[in-house]
Amino acid sequence: MAKVVCVLYEDPASGYPPPQARAGIPTIERYPDGQSTPTPSSIDFTPGELLGSVSGALGLRSFLEAAGHELVVTSDKDGADSVFERELADADVVISQPFWPAYLTADRISRAPQLKLAITAGIGSDHVDLQAAIDADITVAEVTYCNSISVAEHIVMMVLALVRNYIPSYQVVVDGGWNIADCVSRGYDLEGMQVGTVGAGRIGTAAMKRLKPFDVGLHYFDRHPLDPDVAADLEVTRHDTVESLVEACDVVTINCPLHPETERLFDARLLGRMRRGAYLINTARGKICDEDAVAEACASGQLAGYAGDVWFPQPAPADHPWRSMPHHGMTPHVSGTTLSAQARYAAGVREILECWLSDTPIRDEYLIVAGGSLAGAGAHSYSAGNVTAGSEDAARFRAD
Ligand code: NDP
Repeated sequence: MAKVVCVLYEDPASGYPPPQARAGIPTIERYPDGQSTPTPSSIDFTPGELLGSVSGALGLRSFLEAAGHELVVTSDKDGADSVFERELADADVVISQPFWPAYLTADRISRAPQLKLAITAGIGSDHVDLQAAIDADITVAEVTYCNSISVAEHIVMMVLALVRNYIPSYQVVVDGGWNIADCVSRGYDLEGMQVGTVGAGRIGTAAMKRLKPFDVGLHYFDRHPLDPDVAADLEVTRHDTVESLVEACDVVTINCPLHPETERLFDARLLGRMRRGAYLINTARGKICDEDAVAEACASGQLAGYAGDVWFPQPAPADHPWRSMPHHGMTPHVSGTTLSAQARYAAGVREILECWLSDTPIRDEYLIVAGGSLAGAGAHSYSAGNVTAGSEDAARFRAD
């Protein structure tokens, strides 16, 4: 029998379950590339329920316990005294969401001798030291595509929020004011601007498709070229270097994974190559940007705004500079964990567990590491190595 340790974010402050705003969610059976959404044998939850917090348990409890497995669910993930650290010692499987990541560092992996499978309930397995997972022959899998469209929608919202100065204008109303000049003195139309994505995979391409009707010019930088038909439909310009992309764009959105090649890619040097007054949207991973360089660029006016939902580490300490820098539109890490996305990734985690427990192959597109090397989606989009250094700082969130 397996021991499964699942790290999820905390329940709502007002208690669980929260009242539901809508009766349900649309049923989506296929992603835009034709791949089917998750296909577990069955599910024990109603799509649209809150599944990503501790009491939701990703809808896995009855499935695992009825089969005699042990399921431990906790939000206590950081620091040597955490429940996660304790339970890891004899865990066979760890499940974690990128929104509240259980950092699986080399040190933690070395103290988890039974660990065989690390599942990311979402997309982006950079919270796992992939090199250590390769060396320890741990399989790493994520639910590819489960929330890519959720994030693409969020990017459109963030682009418009920054360019049109929505957030300060909303605050004027909340504060009882009506100074229109204050609202519009940083407000522009998106129409006619040049918009570029670093990474033109599932999210980057979906974001470009959604932004094209705004009559913008589109640009991308990626290791592989887009399908020619897709590129022609989007009328998008490919750039050979990230420098060339940022120099050509008014709005840049980051949509590549965090791995050794992209860690701190947006540093002071690259930010300095951007057009003065450009907007930067990062819903990929916080560590792709140098946090102090971004804060300085917002303060100096080099960036007209920065928005997104990803930080490093997570949860971000109270003194993280992005909480207080000017012209930001940051939220906690939420774009990929809408109730709609949760239904897909909870079903995807169950599908992965069903495969692993019955010794049948996990879908290739879900694999990041398998058999001691990068595999599946991981072999295409990641590079081996470790980007978890500094994650222990997440413990400061509670200590502060
Ligand atoms: P995909 O794998 O479909 O796309 C990632 C793209 O990034 C691929 O086209 C890949 O290129 C490209 N890429 C990789 N390395 C580089 C590099 N060094 N320079 C330029 N491009 C690069 O993944 P998704 O689009 O679904 O997701 C992308 C990322 O978004 C995830 O890895 C995750 O970090 C983040 N994410 C955030 C969420 C949130 O809630 N905020 C939710 C979901 C994802 P190629 O494969 O051609 O080599």
